Amino acid sequence: MSAVKKDIRSLSPDHLKQYLLDLGEPAFRVRQIEEWVWRRSCKDFSEMSNIPKDLREKLEDAFSIHQIIVDDLQRSTDGTIKNGVKLHDGRVVESVLIPTDKRITACISSQVGCSLDCHFCATANLPRMRNLNAEEIYDQVVTIKQQAEHYFQRPLTNIVYMGMGEPLLNYANVLKSIDKITADEGLNMAARRITVSTVGIAKMMKKFADDNPRCNLALSLHSARNEVRETIMPITKSNPIELLREALLYWYQKTEKKVTFEYVIWKGINDAPEDIKALVKLCQQVPSKVNIIEYNPIGDERFKMADKAVIDNYINALGEIGVVAKVRQSRGQDIDAACGQLANKNAAS
Ligand code: SAH
Repeated sequence: MSAVKKDIRSLSPDHLKQYLLDLGEPAFRVRQIEEWVWRRSCKDFSEMSNIPKDLREKLEDAFSIHQIIVDDLQRSTDGTIKNGVKLHDGRVVESVLIPTDKRITACISSQVGCSLDCHFCATANLPRMRNLNAEEIYDQVVTIKQQAEHYFQRPLTNIVYMGMGEPLLNYANVLKSIDKITADEGLNMAARRITVSTVGIAKMMKKFADDNPRCNLALSLHSARNEVRETIMPITKSNPIELLREALLYWYQKTEKKVTFEYVIWKGINDAPEDIKALVKLCQQVPSKVNIIEYNPIGDERFKMADKAVIDNYINALGEIGVVAKVRQSRGQDIDAACGQLANKNAAS
């Protein structure tokens, strides 16, 4: 079996520089090549017109430039586009373009499948197969950026790491993808337009605060009571609310950014006055905003969206302590593209 060639983008700039210096090339080639492979998403060494032909051939022999392929595109009646994206090894992830009046948001995946077991999430039914590398994450953004221009004649404005997988469990690759999305030789997007959403892994949240790539953090909270959260999100046993609170205070201290709590309200699960009280208390302790997400059914009878009156009670109680709580309307439900519905339903593999 012939060895699979490495994607040239998997090299760090330092490694690429060393490789080129060893070939006797000048250092400025690093920047030239980085611009081709990142900013221009060039997939073919022969197109690199400012690189000498003999070097192009050497690069071609040594490296590949992997491509992702949208092999299933679905459009929702609300304009949302869901892409089934095939990776170079045939694995499939999903990424979603979400258009609203003011924004076009890319919701991207960071892992094939997921190792967590949140009971309300369809992706949890897929085993975690592997991490995406930085270029596969980056290429999802490029694809959606092109779709925004093609289908909507508008620019991509926001990126959320809320697709399949847990971004903080694929930390190095997620960080590198953010670096390239925001870099001048990459997409040059503002970091404040990027949000990383986590299930809540305290240690990694602190590391993220230390590295501070200047993007936003969202925490899928759903309950501020350990005894409730444990029953729907088993990760709570090793990462209880107290640890999350401490990590979020650390995050705020390092970044001066409020965390966004993502919160679905279900009948009989987190719709009691104690549940509201616990969230209010946490919001008093941690600088935060709350996004109340509509529940997207995944076929589990235990989960039903709470009554509107309860949602209003939550919003009023948070309003009283000056915390902004917005209800996020679900998008793309008809094509299983909404939060928690990504499950490779149409994929052959
Ligand atoms: N692993 C990360 C990112 C993926 S989930 C995380 O846990 O944050 C993205 C968001 O969708 C999370 O807030 C998650 O809790 C939410 N979600 C999962 N299943 C859902 C469902 N069925 N309906 C609504 N939101 C859901």
